[in-house]
Amino acid sequence: MPDYDFCLTGAGCAGLSLLMRILAQPSLRHKKILLVDGHLKNTNDRTWCFWEKGEGYFEQLVYRQWSKLLFHDNEQSRRLTTDPYTYKMIRGIDFYNYCFGFIKYLDNVCFRPGIVESLESNARSTYAVVDGRKITAGLIFNSMPPRKPADTPAWRLLQHFKGWVIRSLRPVFDPGEATIMDFRTPQQRGTSFFYVMPFSPTEALVECTFFSGDILPDREYTTMLTQYISRILGIRDYVIMEKEFGVIPMTTAVFPQQHNHIYQIGSAAGLTKPSSGYTFNYIQQDSDAIVDSLVQRGVPARQPVDRKWHLYDRILLNVLVTQKLSGQRLFSSLFTKTDLPDLLAFLDNKSIPAQDWAVIRSLPKGPFLRAALGEIFGLRRISTRKAPGFKAT
Ligand SMILES: Cc1cc2nc3c(=O)[nH]c(=O)nc-3n(C[C@H](O)[C@H](O)[C@H](O)COP(=O)(O)OP(=O)(O)OC[C@H]3O[C@@H](n4cnc5c(N)ncnc54)[C@H](O)[C@@H]3O)c2cc1C
Repeated sequence: MPDYDFCLTGAGCAGLSLLMRILAQPSLRHKKILLVDGHLKNTNDRTWCFWEKGEGYFEQLVYRQWSKLLFHDNEQSRRLTTDPYTYKMIRGIDFYNYCFGFIKYLDNVCFRPGIVESLESNARSTYAVVDGRKITAGLIFNSMPPRKPADTPAWRLLQHFKGWVIRSLRPVFDPGEATIMDFRTPQQRGTSFFYVMPFSPTEALVECTFFSGDILPDREYTTMLTQYISRILGIRDYVIMEKEFGVIPMTTAVFPQQHNHIYQIGSAAGLTKPSSGYTFNYIQQDSDAIVDSLVQRGVPARQPVDRKWHLYDRILLNVLVTQKLSGQRLFSSLFTKTDLPDLLAFLDNKSIPAQDWAVIRSLPKGPFLRAALGEIFGLRRISTRKAPGFKAT
């Protein structure tokens, strides 16, 4: 008999999203479950933004939501309506507190703070080694990031960002409108834009984001943030309430899904959308599918991603990595020439052919045709130039 029915290695977004759904199922909620994480998950280490129609699984945790988004570049500004979607934000700390608050009353669920040193699954047993101790389980759901990236040819880019929650002395923000992308910022160090999520007339999360091959020294994000807040937002007197830094790998690499009774979940299963970095909603949909499959068939399974979406992601990353077109021009085309709901459906892997066409039509033909031919016929060298610092292996 294994020590536990299920062991979840990683108590982040994917581990907790899956666990909460398992505990909501009458046929699964009494399973003996171990949750392991190297952190206590008691800090606001990230905020998740995403869009969805109607209410989501963690609706009660939504901290702020917007139905109007702004897009800016040096030539134009566009006010966009998200309907039928709503753009939402959940704070990491609210999510962790909610999930841990729920499981602490359950005798069959144990949280063990500790470092997972290795995972193994063979014909005899499935186990995790946690702080030197072997713990067996019927099934392990693993969301720890891989130690090294998959060694397959793929486009790779990093989305790296630093954000501050600032409080201004005077009311300057409209809490009804969030800025999804503001390209009124230097582009020499890779595609770079700002993101402004207002919480009230005086408070907002302001984030400086890059898509490039390498992260930057901390002072460069700080300089960019300071300049943007004073020159573009026109705010002189403010205090920094919170800070966030993050790196999201954007890659078309193929991620391992399962090894015997070890099942990968979250970013470790490749659920981050390669061309955008958005992950939260994919994790929610995946958790639903895994639990459905556990209930119906007793084994985990996920919905396969249609090859069409892989191709679109490869084409978009090809264009960005090889700089066939600057990120600024690419996103300006997408946000100013398509209806936002079509674009959101497309980025969600849910668009119908008419919406795909609306998005494709908005993009400059030459660079995308070259990238598409390269991806379809394997002619990656068709790219005309490669920017320094970008990696394509
Ligand atoms: C700062 C930040 C902001 C983000 N914002 C957004 C957003 O707005 N929208 C969006 O869609 N996506 C966003 N993402 C991307 C993605 O949604 C998150 O990374 C999400 O948390 C991924 O969930 P996960 O469970 O796969 O990984 P995580 O949430 O990172 O969970 C993995 C867990 O494994 C634990 N762990 C790792 N190694 C070990 C070990 N050896 N032993 C024990 N425990 C271990 C970690 O402590 C962690 O708790 C963001 C990412 C970051 C980093």
